[in-house]
Amino acid sequence: MPLGLEFRTALAKARAGEELTKEDIIDLLKAAPGEEASQLFALADQVRQQNMGDEVHLRGIIEFSNYCCNDCYYCGLRRSNKDIKRYRIPREEVLAAAKHAAELGYGTIVLQSGEDLYYSGAELAEMVAQIKRIGNFAVTVCVGERSLADYQLMREAGADRYLLKHETADPQLFAQLRPGTTLQERLERLKWLRELGYQVGSGNMVGLPGQTMATLADDILLLKELDVEMAGIGPFIPHHQTPLRDCPPGDLNLTLKVLAVARLVLPQTHLPATTAVGTLHPRGRQMALGCGANVIMPNLSPASYRKMYAIYPEKAGSKEDPDESHHKIVSLIKEAGRAVSSGRGDSPKEKFKYFPGESTGER
Ligand code: SAH
Ligand code: SF4
Repeated sequence: MPLGLEFRTALAKARAGEELTKEDIIDLLKAAPGEEASQLFALADQVRQQNMGDEVHLRGIIEFSNYCCNDCYYCGLRRSNKDIKRYRIPREEVLAAAKHAAELGYGTIVLQSGEDLYYSGAELAEMVAQIKRIGNFAVTVCVGERSLADYQLMREAGADRYLLKHETADPQLFAQLRPGTTLQERLERLKWLRELGYQVGSGNMVGLPGQTMATLADDILLLKELDVEMAGIGPFIPHHQTPLRDCPPGDLNLTLKVLAVARLVLPQTHLPATTAVGTLHPRGRQMALGCGANVIMPNLSPASYRKMYAIYPEKAGSKEDPDESHHKIVSLIKEAGRAVSSGRGDSPKEKFKYFPGESTGER
């Protein structure tokens, strides 16, 4: 089938490095399976190669608490879900997991949890500081919406990056799916994080009910406007204990297309091949690595807690221990013909260049 005119025009603009409009982005997202999709993916792969190289950065996640005060419609950790066992990993176990990550050669630890107000900002900051003392890690924090003072304490304790996905750029949909919260407040926090000097990560889900191609184009443009250092783009996966239990999961091909277009629009942003895309399809992460992704976030949580961190069901790796997850991901990367990075994998943007030997508390 010949390539459509709109698609061809938009792809040529992307290839020439021209700025893409919302309409161009929609035309690319509509790439038909077959020739159009393969050309889009090939260009994204080339842009990734030119800007980020062939190394894949590993970010080891420790999911230290599954308590959450929020009630997001899409997430299994929502407070109304009374059918899951809640846990908080004792500090010594969190630190042991980080020590193990150091032994495995990790350059980044991601501390993730539900929005758990049991932890004060000072306690979270102390956890960050303790981890920074273990090894030459970059620490990414992903604990949701907190106060400016809390973000500041964590930053002062040495946190390098913060991940706060905008989830959807549609303000109505955002408010519906995250009762009691607004997109505007989330964006305000992303601005604070930027001002505090964090490397900022955001991102969105693909396939939320009510989402359109135009919303997805807005998601990509919002990531561009935020000038993020990292963008987590993964499919929505329904959880049986949430109000969205009967909604279909995000489509694999659409997720890969959104990722590929994000790579064209954000050439120097770290883009993970998400656990969610690996859950949707056994080779999902390999495919994502071929469509612009250059990061993987292996789960390093102790095995006994994993099944309780069910943001969505059957999460890839939920039955493994940290060593198994690590080795599986290393072979996946090698099979994809790529190399495992040994450094911290800071943002390649000029202002975030990291020089070995610098104080590890600062970038
Ligand atoms: N509580 C924090 C961090 C943990 S949730 C927060 O919400 O920011 C981490 C991510 O999981 C969220 O940003 C969301 O994008 C993703 N997520 C939640 N439920 C999901 C689902 N059903 N399918 C796919 N991703 C989901
Ligand atoms: Fe809580 Fe985050 Fe899940 Fe929302 S997405 S319910 S804030 S863990």
